[in-house]
Amino acid sequence: LRRWACLAEITPIITGSAGVSLSLGRDSRHANRAQRRALRAMYGGCGIPGCSVAFDRCQIHHLKWFHNNGLTDIDNLSPLCNKHHHLVHDGGWHLVLDNGRNLTVTFPDGSIMTTGPPSAWTR
Ligand SMILES: [Zn+2]
Ligand SMILES: [Zn+2]
Repeated sequence: LRRWACLAEITPIITGSAGVSLSLGRDSRHANRAQRRALRAMYGGCGIPGCSVAFDRCQIHHLKWFHNNGLTDIDNLSPLCNKHHHLVHDGGWHLVLDNGRNLTVTFPDGSIMTTGPPSAWTR
């Protein structure tokens, strides 16, 4: 059940007064409309460089998992396609995002991939 914890986190879209904030902290485990819009503008698709899955087919992932005290803040959220979401939750991939949106991926074999921010990617 841990595997897809994020799926349950992302299905509903918050509406109302919280709908414009990009930092929901621990108030909500659901990414809101403004956060989705910001992530769409940043990434346009899956948060893994080289992956071509469109944003509308991605889920919003908490980089630091919500059940591990991760926050529903824009800095802790990234779109991931089904395949990559699965690899992160169940395949041993470890993602770290810094303040500049540079992504570091640690693979199960210990190898590491570091990329620049999504604005610098060529898909
Ligand atoms: Zn997730
Ligand atoms: Zn992907």
